[in-house]
Amino acid sequence: MENKISNCKKCGAPTENQFELVTLKTMVDRGFRKNKYYQAMGDIIHTAICDDCIDEFIAKSSNSSKQILKLSLLSLIVFIGCIVLFLVVPITAFRVFCAIIAGITVLAFLQEFNNIKKQAKEINNKNEKENRNTLAVKLLSKLLPDRHNDAELAYVDAYLIKKGDLNILAKEYGFSYKKLVQIKNFLKEGKDNQQLDDDANHQVK
Ligand SMILES: [Zn+2]
Repeated sequence: MENKISNCKKCGAPTENQFELVTLKTMVDRGFRKNKYYQAMGDIIHTAICDDCIDEFIAKSSNSSKQILKLSLLSLIVFIGCIVLFLVVPITAFRVFCAIIAGITVLAFLQEFNNIKKQAKEINNKNEKENRNTLAVKLLSKLLPDRHNDAELAYVDAYLIKKGDLNILAKEYGFSYKKLVQIKNFLKEGKDNQQLDDDANHQVK
């Protein structure tokens, strides 16, 4: 890939930060008893995102205190509501119900709190270039459609399919490892002559 200029998907500014994304499609066949899931490769998308938009997104994603404050307020309101109802309504069954809801609220709060902390830590831990690429793909995924007809869509950096750990990708995207191997083989076919260019342009380790 030569370094040509494209327009940023978000703000339209000219940029050299181009990405090749592979669309992952997951279709659900809602059955009477059990849902069946079909996964397939969708379109290959060439898109771009500028440095300013990535910077803005990184600043927002690594700021965990705001997210935690919002979560704390919401959990507190539900928790206090349960306690008040517990004290006011003298019906045992209802009290048990309130206690269960209060307990679930606390557990959900702790889990979400850990998730936010973990995400912020991951963002701060990764080296800056790796970070930028991951978050740029995340941001682009938000800008691209997340559904097409019956299929749920996700987007993965084609470079990661070619060079990354497919086991990790499969877990991260909830996508079939076997299908990812097929996509990798598909991407590699006839693309070997581009390999050197790709390596030169891409920053992920
Ligand atoms: Zn932009």
